[in-house]
Amino acid sequence: MTRFGIVTADGVVRTVDAGSEPDLFWAVRGGRESFGIVTWMEFGLVEQPRFHGGGIFFDGGDAPRLLHAWREWAPGLGEDTSTSIALLALPPDPALPPELRGRFVVHLRLAHLGAAAEGEALLAPMRAAAVPLLDGVGELPWAAVDAVHSDPTDPMPVWDRGAVLDTLPADAVDAVLTESGPDSSSPLVLVELRLLGGALARPATVPNAVAGRHGAVSLYCLGVPAGPEAAVQVPARAAALLDAVAPWTRGGLVNLAGQAAPDTVAGYWDDDTRLRLAALKRRVDPAGVFGGPVTA
Ligand SMILES: Cc1cc2nc3c(=O)[nH]c(=O)nc-3n(C[C@H](O)[C@H](O)[C@H](O)COP(=O)(O)OP(=O)(O)OC[C@H]3O[C@@H](n4cnc5c(N)ncnc54)[C@H](O)[C@@H]3O)c2cc1C
Repeated sequence: MTRFGIVTADGVVRTVDAGSEPDLFWAVRGGRESFGIVTWMEFGLVEQPRFHGGGIFFDGGDAPRLLHAWREWAPGLGEDTSTSIALLALPPDPALPPELRGRFVVHLRLAHLGAAAEGEALLAPMRAAAVPLLDGVGELPWAAVDAVHSDPTDPMPVWDRGAVLDTLPADAVDAVLTESGPDSSSPLVLVELRLLGGALARPATVPNAVAGRHGAVSLYCLGVPAGPEAAVQVPARAAALLDAVAPWTRGGLVNLAGQAAPDTVAGYWDDDTRLRLAALKRRVDPAGVFGGPVTA
């Protein structure tokens, strides 16, 4: 992001960039809703017309084999490849392909910027780990990037939480499988492990307040809190999952914090960042007009 407009607590409409308001420019990029209402943003673009990727669905019964294979495979990928793997409890929706309707599945996701043949070769160990139900990896225009996750496009209520893991050893994968695997009767409809690293792991060229750069893997989960039982069970099982991976967890990603309490999200920043954010909050929003994880 190179510039944005924001209405701050004093009612002033500001145009902010690295030169005009360096502190606010640093803080809003990572500090969530704590400093004002953003009204527009300007981004630099990267030319990337195509990629090789998509998703492969496997039967949920293969989850242990696939998650352990992914744990060994994903960290060895280069920076031009990104991947995640998700446990999905799909609804019996007629809009879904018949192979997937109403099934508990594993969804392997890939985005590779290099040549198609290279992407296919990279995927070989994962394709060999189990028999796919549906294989949707191929050459895609960048405009089709949402095909990688194939998330629903209609709005729906979700209850979500996330965490950042420093490492993903076998015990952490086993903890995820125990809490959320095919035999867990978990009400969560998505539990995702996503590879971090690459450019995220390096300080931004123009520094910002983004937390979680240190992580190896993001864990994200969500359920649909429809009905009184699910409204209790979904948060409870999400909390149990996060507890189970607590030994490997350090902080989280603000974007994937979901329903985490503000003081939990505040704990995602290192001490220096949190103190700098708090100092700016005292300057630009001392009365706490805007809520959020940063407090004066
Ligand atoms: C299924 C699913 C998949 C997801 N996948 C990804 C992913 O791949 N990558 C990723 O980065 N994230 C992902 N997310 C997380 C998503 O990007 C964040 O939840 C995002 O913040 C949603 O923005 P929103 O404006 O829709 O939500 P909101 O809940 O409305 O807003 C999120 C936060 O931003 C604040 N906010 C909203 N509007 C403004 C504004 N104008 N000015 C200042 N603050 C504002 C809100 O107060 C709130 O704290 C996913 C979420 C879901 C449910």
